[in-house]
Parts: sequence; structure tokens; C-alpha cells
Amino acid sequence: IEVDARELERKRELGRGAYGVVEEMIHRPTGMIFAVKRIHSSINDESQKLMSTELKAMKSGSCEQMVRFFGAMFREGDVWICMEVMDVSLDKFYRMNVDHHRRLPEPFIAKVALAVIDGLNFMKEQMGLMHRDVKPSNILLNKQGAVKICDFGISGHLTNSIAKTINAGCKPYMPPERIEGELKDAYGVQADVWSLGITLVEISTGTHPYDRWKTPFEQLKQVVREPSPQVDRRFGYSDEFHDFIAQCLIKNSNNRPKYAQLLEHPFLVKAKNNTSFDMGEFITSVLREEIKEEKFLQNLNMNGE
Ligand code: ADP
Ligand code: MG
Repeated sequence: IEVDARELERKRELGRGAYGVVEEMIHRPTGMIFAVKRIHSSINDESQKLMSTELKAMKSGSCEQMVRFFGAMFREGDVWICMEVMDVSLDKFYRMNVDHHRRLPEPFIAKVALAVIDGLNFMKEQMGLMHRDVKPSNILLNKQGAVKICDFGISGHLTNSIAKTINAGCKPYMPPERIEGELKDAYGVQADVWSLGITLVEISTGTHPYDRWKTPFEQLKQVVREPSPQVDRRFGYSDEFHDFIAQCLIKNSNNRPKYAQLLEHPFLVKAKNNTSFDMGEFITSVLREEIKEEKFLQNLNMNGE
């Protein structure tokens, strides 16, 4: 379908990022619901064209581990990206568990890792594209148990990512080779593997591994100089889990495994064969609890007034 921005009516805000807002909108002619990301960005015609081409590629070829993409519109320099609505992003989801002093169960983390690797592998093999911005907020979940990646290839077009990290005060998910290298082309798919490793450490420990350092510049220095982050053994995760993370976080990108190799890792093989853990049920139960709590707090507020 062709979507015209004038036919979209906003319903509610889904989230906010450093570069814009994501809103749930209804397409009046069809009644379809979209998540629309509006990016304030005065990008030039040339990168607009390039971005259109890449986004079109995403429209044609997609897999179940990618958030469905319906099209992009350019409005006075603003970019509107229309995609499928999901129930929650992984950053918000893991924080709900931290709030309740719970750790995410290993089968959940393993299935997330498997979906992300499957999705990234598909995009690399079929489209020749890498993601460049793998992090918890770009991994989305729904109550049916789906795990999908979003914001594919968008970040690269906006601004130089290192500048972005420093300016936006983002936490570093980028690998040592990308911080040290000056050229955008100087890094490959293994960069996304590193970012996934950092993401897995973050969701399993409940904090970003580099967040104790004050300035973003200091954080980037840590990525390059310090040994790779690890997950505390006392958290009770399996040996395969720890080894998988260690593989993703091999500092020298030449030695870091690629997707084919990772897909054979016992951690992912186990995830693939695990039919007893119900993702949909787990995600639904965490979200349900969250809603209950929100209502409870709302009531407290009202009674307290
Ligand atoms: P970031 O990824 O840096 O957080 P974004 O602008 O990409 O910033 O997204 C902002 C937030 O909007 C995300 O953290 C997520 O919670 C939410 N979001 C993005 N896309 C969707 C979607 N398709 N469905 C539901 N929520 C979404
Ligand atoms: Mg995002």
C-alpha cells in the first residue's frame, strides 16, 4: 500500500529517542495501525536518495526477525518511517525485570540472541547490509513471543555515529575497531556481533557495562583499552552462555566469529531446540505485571491527592 502522511492520525506516543519520536498512528483510509518514527533531520538530497534505496530493499526482502517496514516519506526534510507496531522494546523490558529484582531467564536471553543473529545473518546474506546500531532499544518484542530488529541501516545516514554517540550521550555499543578506525568502511559485520555481545551483557546484568564512566569520551577509551565486559558467574548462567558472550566480545575483530560460526555455538543450538520455554507467555506475564503496577500507583496517587 501507498501511505500518505496526510492520511495518518496520531494516537499515542510509543517512545522517544535522541533523534525523534515514535508514535502509533492510524491510517484513516485502511484502518491500519503503524508505528511512525519521525526524525528531525535536514539530510541532503543525495543521502535521502541513498536512504530511500536502502529502505526499499528492506521493504522487498524481509524476514520474521525484522520489524515489518511499510515505507518512508520525506516531509520538508523530516523523515517519517512507517513500521509495524510492537509491544515493547528490549531496553524497557529488561528494566521492568530489574525493577522487580529479577534476572532474565537464560532461555529468554538465548532466544533473543538467536533471533537477532538470524535476522542480521539474513540481511547480510540476502541484502548485503549490516545494521550498525544494534542495542536493546532496537530489539522489539510482542506478546505473541516474536523478537524483531528495527532501525536497520538508518543510523548510518544521519550523522557520523561516533559524533552521534558523543553528542547524544548514548552508551557505547560500538566495537573497538570502529572507535579506532577513521573510515566508515573499515569495519564489517563483526561490529554488529560486538554490539549484540554488549546488549546481552546489559540485559543479563541489568546495567550497561560501561556506564560507570562519566564522559562518553572516557567510555570509548574504556572500550578500546579495557578487557571485554563479562557477566558475573554468581548470576547463575550456564557455561555456554558465558562462552557465547566471550566470543561476541573478542576485541580483535579479525578473530571475532561471524554469523555462520555463531549459529553453530551450543548456546544458540540449545535455544533453537528449546521448545519448552514459551516466549509469548513470558513476555505477556512481565507486561501484565507492569500494567497492574501502573494502575496500583495511579490509584495511590489519586487517593493521596
Ligand atoms: P532509540 O532506539 O535510540 O531508543 P528510537 O527513536 O529509535 O530511539 O525509538 C524510541 C523508542 O520508541 C524505542 O526505545 C522503543 O521503545 C519505541 N519504538 C520504536 N519503534 C517501535 C515500534 N515499531 N513499535 C513499538 N515501539 C517502538
Ligand atoms: Mg531505535
